[in-house]
Amino acid sequence: MKLNRNFKNLKENYLFAEVSKRVDAYKAEFPNSDIISLGIGDVTIPLSQKAVEACKDSAIAMSTKSGFKGYGPYDGYDFLKNAIVDYYKKRGVKIEADEVFVTDGAKNGIGNFLDLFDAGNTVMIPDPVYPAYVDANVLAGHKVVYVDATKENKFLAMPPKRGKADIIYICSPNNPTGAAYTKDQLKEWVDFALDKQAVILYDAAYEAYINGKTAARSIFEVTGARDCAVEFCSFSKMAGFTGVRCGWTVIPMSSPLNRMWLHRQAIKFNGTSYVVQRMAESMLKEGFDDSLKMVEAYKKNAKIITDKFDALGIEYTGGEHAPYIWFNCGIDSWQFFDYMLKKARIVCTPGSGFGRNGNGWIRLTSFNSKERTEEAVSRFVPFWKEFVEVRNKLFTVVN
Ligand code: PLP
Repeated sequence: MKLNRNFKNLKENYLFAEVSKRVDAYKAEFPNSDIISLGIGDVTIPLSQKAVEACKDSAIAMSTKSGFKGYGPYDGYDFLKNAIVDYYKKRGVKIEADEVFVTDGAKNGIGNFLDLFDAGNTVMIPDPVYPAYVDANVLAGHKVVYVDATKENKFLAMPPKRGKADIIYICSPNNPTGAAYTKDQLKEWVDFALDKQAVILYDAAYEAYINGKTAARSIFEVTGARDCAVEFCSFSKMAGFTGVRCGWTVIPMSSPLNRMWLHRQAIKFNGTSYVVQRMAESMLKEGFDDSLKMVEAYKKNAKIITDKFDALGIEYTGGEHAPYIWFNCGIDSWQFFDYMLKKARIVCTPGSGFGRNGNGWIRLTSFNSKERTEEAVSRFVPFWKEFVEVRNKLFTVVN
């Protein structure tokens, strides 16, 4: 037996395990302390009643002879694919039902998609970014090259002047920085990909958080994208489905990847459950307002945080188009993590866990409740004022 030798090339991704370890150690020392987590990357608002009704109704239908369903189509039921097509249409983006593939979440879609490529491709990934891209590519034996996202480019990495790329990852709005590309900026990436004959794997898991029309919600808003891009999306953060599991992938019919992906799914996937697809459909139809309310609630929490950051003069990105706020703490991210936990009992996520360029930065999320977010902010203000006083004396400044 030969094991996948690429496993040994994975960097130990200790980010969330290390966060838990440090929080547990703190709790063991101070068992009665009231810790608030602004580190969580998971939703907290319970499911919409509309999704629950769809769940019940479809489960009851399955208990009848006429409504029973066995294996479903590999690419999803037409009712959900058509609802997704309409969701794009409302925003002026034309896609066909045959271009939509229902998945059990964007993460699976993004990771499994690598089955379609030969080992040894050069994969371009922004730094910092959602860690799953790098790990999935290392496992698949690809060569990873990074494009820098820094405060100089407002954490929106742009195509490099030179360099090879076969597969390009773009995450917009970005996890962890919350930064979102405009259509013009995405056009530069599309032109770059066309020039290199590369494919863009576009992760739009947070598109529902985009405000206004400046930032693009889909890569397919951009001319030329249908010739080089695939889009991944998710019900996780738009409808609270992180535990329900449903997402989708859009692959233009003109791309050979469309039929290859159908083939791949037929080999390795037996479809997302009927009940879950009915629940997802409900969130694009009768439950759509509930989905908007959830997103709005998280965005209001983000604003509670960014309003205070503005008042304190803190350098940050995000919040406007994302449930993430990314701020410059100026010192080693883990040192800041420990200091804020000790002094304010607030948990954050150290930016260095998302890539080299993340050091000195911190990710906060707006997924906690309004009350806890407000409480966190009221603790943060005096904490930050004192931190700024002592920063240069106690720590090595990195940014
Ligand atoms: N893409 C990004 C950028 C994410 O941050 C996440 C989850 O945090 C995912 C994808 C995973 O989405 P899903 O729950 O649909 O697998």
